[in-house]
Amino acid sequence: MRYDALVVGGSFAGLSAAMQLARARKNVCVVDAGAPRNRFAAAAHGFFGQDGVPPLKMIADARAKLLAYPNVTFIEGRIVSAQADGAGGFVASLDSDRQLSAGKLMLAFGVQDGFPDGIAGVRERWGTSVLHCPYCHGYEFSGRRLGVLIEAPHPPDHAMLIAEWGPTTLFLNANNTMDDEARARLQARGVTIEPGRIAALEGAGQDLAGIRLEDGRIVAVEALFMVPRTRPSSPIAEQLGCAFDDGPAGPVIRTDAMKMTTVPGVYAAGDAAMPMHNATLASADGVMAGTAMHRAMVFGA
Ligand SMILES: Cc1cc2nc3c(=O)[nH]c(=O)nc-3n(C[C@H](O)[C@H](O)[C@H](O)COP(=O)(O)OP(=O)(O)OC[C@H]3O[C@@H](n4cnc5c(N)ncnc54)[C@H](O)[C@@H]3O)c2cc1C
Repeated sequence: MRYDALVVGGSFAGLSAAMQLARARKNVCVVDAGAPRNRFAAAAHGFFGQDGVPPLKMIADARAKLLAYPNVTFIEGRIVSAQADGAGGFVASLDSDRQLSAGKLMLAFGVQDGFPDGIAGVRERWGTSVLHCPYCHGYEFSGRRLGVLIEAPHPPDHAMLIAEWGPTTLFLNANNTMDDEARARLQARGVTIEPGRIAALEGAGQDLAGIRLEDGRIVAVEALFMVPRTRPSSPIAEQLGCAFDDGPAGPVIRTDAMKMTTVPGVYAAGDAAMPMHNATLASADGVMAGTAMHRAMVFGA
């Protein structure tokens, strides 16, 4: 069977795109590898009508709504390669070796977070007490001692923002690229600047109690905000020849205003195709991409 659309990734962006296509009566196949980016967090915040709901529940509920449409197929698995089929469509291979054929492709496979080398205790606290976004998880740490770990090329000004939520220490981790003006701005805001190299995070289980520096001192901190480097979760945009732009955290698949990539017939939505990463924005991006793809099916593009 040749699907009208193959959606790679069935989370906030992919399910939102697929819903628009399903409601436009297209045959849609969604393939999902089951590892949404926020799976480490017990609750997602800030999403319209869903504040505090576990992200995996939000996704499962959205998937169930989508699967109520008889023209939707959902496959648990991973697309490992995709290419043009020479007849205006695409053929993609699953990790099970099964091949799928579709008229158009939607890339909604998200991004992977990269963590700084040599700091013990970051990975196991990711999404609990080591966090990427103050709007998502800052409120829960209101008024508590907060840390910010910035690695170049991100500006230290991120610590100015985090200070909205509580008393803040900026950890330079022996990587001082700050000019005097930035230092003065942070100090005027009450941010403490800690120049030393971090050795490890301390605390019971996934809780954070402090940050141990290489010189042996421990700075009391209950949540650490950082901006991880990101990379696309799948190499297939590259395989297809899609162009990328440099985003603030990593490469972003280039799209036009209608969410089509630089390869005709291939659309992209969500974290993989946006510089700002947030579930609401990913979902909205998916809606835009799904409706734009449908219009292209009607009007051509
Ligand atoms: C720890 C953490 C907590 C967060 N908390 C919040 C929050 O509270 N509120 C908020 O608004 N945002 C939050 N975010 C951001 C939010 O998770 C992302 O913006 C959102 O998940 C992006 O949605 P997406 O659909 O683009 O990608 P994802 O949700 O990452 O989904 C991509 C899907 O594609 C699948 N996939 C990848 N490669 C393939 C492939 N080759 N074949 C098939 N499937 C594939 C993956 O398994 C995954 O299921 C958080 C992020 C993190 C890291």
